[in-house]
Order: sequence, then C-alpha cells, then structure tokens
Amino acid sequence: MTNGHTRVVFATGNRDKLREIREILAEAGVEVPVLTMKEAGVTEEIEENGTTFEENAMIKARAVAAALRREAQEEMETIVLADDSGLVIDALDGAPGIYSARYLGHDTPYSEKNAKILQQLEDVPEAERSARFVCAIAAVLPDGGTEVTRGVMEGRISHEIAGSGGFGYDPIFYLPEAGKTSAELTEEEKNAVSHRGKALRAMAELLFQK
Ligand code: IMP
Repeated sequence: MTNGHTRVVFATGNRDKLREIREILAEAGVEVPVLTMKEAGVTEEIEENGTTFEENAMIKARAVAAALRREAQEEMETIVLADDSGLVIDALDGAPGIYSARYLGHDTPYSEKNAKILQQLEDVPEAERSARFVCAIAAVLPDGGTEVTRGVMEGRISHEIAGSGGFGYDPIFYLPEAGKTSAELTEEEKNAVSHRGKALRAMAELLFQK
C-alpha cells in the first residue's frame, strides 16, 4: 500500500489536532507526508449531519476525497482520513456525544461548559459518573475503498476541574488508573491511552502494515 507516492490528507483545519495526529502516526512508523485539507487545497465547509461518530467521520472523509478528485491531483496516491470524536456521559444519557463541540454553545468557553457539567452531575454518586471519550477515524483510499476504526478512553466525570493540558473536556475527565484527569497528563501520556491515539493506531495498522 505504501510507496514513495502516497500521502495522507487529514480532514481537519485544527493545527493542534494535526500535530497530535502527525506524532501518533510517526510513532506508529508511518512515514508518508500528512497534510491538512487546507494544505491540500480544500477549503470547503463540511456539514456533519450524521447520527454516529463513524458516520460523521465518513461524511468528512468522503467530502474531502470528492473535492480532491475534482481537482484531479493525481500525481500522488492520496489517502484521506477524517476523525469525529466526543465525550459520552452515561448520567446525561450519552450527552454531549456527537454534539460535543457545540454542546452549551459552540463559542462558550470550556471553563464554563465544564463547570456546567459538574453542576448537572452534582448529586450523581461516584458509581454513576462513568463516561468515555470516543473517536472514530474514517479513511477513503486511492481506489475509493473505505475503512473505519474506533478508539475509546474510559473514565469518569470528576468533582472538580483539574489540569491545564489537553483541551475541551479534559479537565473534568478523571482516569482512575492514572489517578488524575486527562488534562493532567503529558501529551505523550495522553496519546498512549487516548481514544484518538487508539483509533489512529488501529487505522495505521490497517492501512500501512507490511
Ligand atoms: P470534532 O472536532 O468534531 O471531532 O469535535 C470533538 C469535540 O469533542 C471537541 O470539540 C471536544 O469538545 C470534544 N473532545 C474530543 N476529543 C477530546 C479530547 O481528547 N479532550 C477533550 N475534549 C475532546
């Protein structure tokens, strides 16, 4: 599958996410160039109107693959990857789930969103505070074939906001094995156990294993 003419285009505009993705793929031994969709010349907005993480990831990957096909950049074999992720809280019936980015308002600071969630869970006992981060990665291959992988990081919602690493809901996501929130992990520690790390490594294995 891999050769000197393969590249990966990742359907994200988020440079932090891309840095994380490049690191995880490099650690998995993937040596092909990884570009953002913008670097590959795709600037269109993609509407995520699926009902699952997998569907939304595939919608993004297919949209970028179609845009690249229209531009006919055929000198390189392109694998398009896209992810969709979010936080699933059992005590909130699975919310925010696929709506994680826009939950309580797209532009509301996470300090506020996290405080609000802790408030909503104020009377919820420890045993019922289970939650998980989920990430689906979708791939559209040069021959038009597709693959999807899923990674999950299990934990629970903490009682207090803690940590300044990571992003989003990390400061309220407590990892019992680590004894701290995912915002208190180093980037390397988080990549080793995160939903995104697991889903990406599974995809790297599917696509690039020798
Ligand atoms: P996406 O970029 O459409 O996949 O949206 C993912 C959203 O889920 C983010 O905006 C965050 O709110 C949340 N999320 C996903 N992964 C993480 C993580 O690793 N830490 C904290 N929040 C996350």
